[in-house]
Amino acid sequence: MTDPVVPIPHERAEGENECEHALVHLNEYLDSEMTPEDEQRMRAHVAHCSPCLAELSIEELVKQLVRRSCAERAPETLRVRIHEQITILAG
Ligand SMILES: [Zn+2]
Repeated sequence: MTDPVVPIPHERAEGENECEHALVHLNEYLDSEMTPEDEQRMRAHVAHCSPCLAELSIEELVKQLVRRSCAERAPETLRVRIHEQITILAG
């Protein structure tokens, strides 16, 4: 089971569909289950979209930490803390 990804609200309307695409496929990307087309599209998008890059980095970090600690899932507090740190950096 994976939690639904909560998108970070974006102010720019232009990249809306690409952001949606990136967030929808986030977990597939992390699990390397993406099709090459989707992966390329996502990489191209996060290269210039810092909110999506931040979201991707958060999930990647949480995943790494969870794997390292052998926990079943990251505590919500950890996720929130990483989220805060990364959005500050990305902002
Ligand atoms: Zn985006």
